[in-house]
Amino acid sequence: MLRIAIQKSGRLYEDSVQLLKECGIDLRNVKDRLRTEADNFPLEVFFLRDDDIPQYVEDGVADIGIVGENVLFEKNKQAEVVEKLGFGKCRLSVAVPRGQQYEGVTSLQGKRIATSYPFLVNTFLAKNNVQAEIHEISGSVEIAPGIGLADVVADLVSSGSTLFMNGLKEVETILQSQSVLIKNNQLSAAQQQLLDKLLFRIRAVKKAKRTKYVLLNAPNDKLKEIISLLPGMKSPTVLPLAEQGWSSVHSVLSEDTFWDIIEQLKAAGAQGILVVPIEKMII
Ligand code: ATP
Ligand code: MG
Repeated sequence: MLRIAIQKSGRLYEDSVQLLKECGIDLRNVKDRLRTEADNFPLEVFFLRDDDIPQYVEDGVADIGIVGENVLFEKNKQAEVVEKLGFGKCRLSVAVPRGQQYEGVTSLQGKRIATSYPFLVNTFLAKNNVQAEIHEISGSVEIAPGIGLADVVADLVSSGSTLFMNGLKEVETILQSQSVLIKNNQLSAAQQQLLDKLLFRIRAVKKAKRTKYVLLNAPNDKLKEIISLLPGMKSPTVLPLAEQGWSSVHSVLSEDTFWDIIEQLKAAGAQGILVVPIEKMII
């Protein structure tokens, strides 16, 4: 049995449970539970505060865990990152009151910085040879300058709207973060085998998310050009249509090149282009 620690409630909860689900792992009674077992995979799930997850994985109380890099690096625990998961994206940034002049990191010299990330902020300051006073607070960091608790803040930002609403502007990025799968350093061979099995599924799900299945109709005299635009897993599938002189072409496209290629396909004479999401992709 493999034990995984995920956030009990909060920003990572939904995506973590959803990822397991997309990997074909059914969890029963997740509501208000502290632990549960999967029905169809030897996996036990612990629901914890995200701050505690690195410690639990280091200690081997959980074998693996899902946590933000921001928390993992702040806690500075011995746990290995196995896979970036692509959700929970945010950055740890320094923000100053909008009216305040800012001319680079030296402007932080002697300031009082409110943050929930003292280790990461200290490391950042030391690297930049800046001395400042850190005030550790565990939440609502963005109001600290407004109530006179600090001059500036270092906090997590995704859209920036919270900072904006509190009259702050972002001036430095300390860390870009997303959620990651971490593992204990001393997994048994059996546990590693289960992790590999889970990882295989996670990678198939991630790959599918970045890829679309594309079907289109092409006049046969344009087929060569159209096929040359399509990568496909090996090469595109081409099937004759009932109508003479036309073919149906099927292929997969990655998200990065998707719109460019669709435009080129249209220009080359493709018609009736259908784009379908892919659930899993194994290559
Ligand atoms: P817990 O009760 O588990 O300690 P929390 O209040 O510390 O929860 P959440 O606010 O739920 O944490 O955030 C969990 C994680 O989501 C963060 O550590 C970070 O990795 C990620 N995240 C993504 N965007 C943001 C954001 N804009 N603000 C805060 N966290 C974010
Ligand atoms: Mg937390």
